[in-house]
Amino acid sequence: VPSELELIQTFVRATGAAPLVPAGPGDDAAVLAPSGASCVTVDALVEGVHFRRATASLEDIGHKALAVNLSDLAAMGARPRWCLVALGLPRGFRRSEARAMGRGLGGLARAAGVKVVGGNVTRAPGLSLTVTVGGEAPDTGLLLRSGARVGDALWVSGTLGDARLGLLLLESRGNGPGGLLRRHPRLARGTMGRQRRPTARVALGQALAGLATACIDLSDGLAQDAARLAMASRAQLHIRLGELPTSRALSAAIPEPGARNRFAAMGGEDYELLFTAPPDVATQVLRRGRRARVQVRKIGEVVWGRGTVLVDERGRPVRGVHGFQHFTR
Ligand SMILES: [Mg+2]
Repeated sequence: VPSELELIQTFVRATGAAPLVPAGPGDDAAVLAPSGASCVTVDALVEGVHFRRATASLEDIGHKALAVNLSDLAAMGARPRWCLVALGLPRGFRRSEARAMGRGLGGLARAAGVKVVGGNVTRAPGLSLTVTVGGEAPDTGLLLRSGARVGDALWVSGTLGDARLGLLLLESRGNGPGGLLRRHPRLARGTMGRQRRPTARVALGQALAGLATACIDLSDGLAQDAARLAMASRAQLHIRLGELPTSRALSAAIPEPGARNRFAAMGGEDYELLFTAPPDVATQVLRRGRRARVQVRKIGEVVWGRGTVLVDERGRPVRGVHGFQHFTR
């Protein structure tokens, strides 16, 4: 079994040699020199809870463990800088396997400008990878969930429901909705890719700082995460399901618009950004989306009240659209 230091060095090397910090890794603690406000988040990926070895490669797991944290920093408008990795390794886990996870994490870390500054390894009954990511607040201030004001427009980035569709396809070995893998293999593989290697909207989050009034990343599905933003802002979100952005893959899998939009609203692990902005800055929102190379779409408004109201394509309230949990369908 390789030593703890060797294993952590695998991850450190995967993000490049130049140290970001005055000291670390290799000492008892990393030493950081933050400029201004820092922003820190942590998330664990646990075998059997968040992934299965049968449907996710070790590179996928390394990538995703960082991506889900980057998504949280994106929702704050922060610039990610460093991360800590904590590995739980089952008996017999090989160095080459740790290296594969390091490659997955390292590829994304380099692209995002993030350095591994330290870590920990422990024996565990199953594989787990816990990543802590820290970043810097922009001069324009951080985005919070609590800033939505009555009259603001509600926006969302990208497309919704693809990662959930990808999970169904992976879990059913291709017998997912609409026979998608058989009829449209390229589209189907795209959704599985979104499930296994999500993209965090880091550039968009930073572009929205100072413009958006509130923001949250979509990890548990639009319906559930919108309710969290509404509660934090002490307002109500009015969401038109007919406006939800959906992909060609989702249209091919679920042709009926009503069913498709409800699926998209409940889809977990989108890692898109849901945000609010005053109605008179719509042009700037669209421009900043283009600059960050991601589509943004207006899907509703902030109104008086509490919670969320979801309306269908004809404006009728929709019930029974709930959140998402792994492996509990
Ligand atoms: Mg989040």
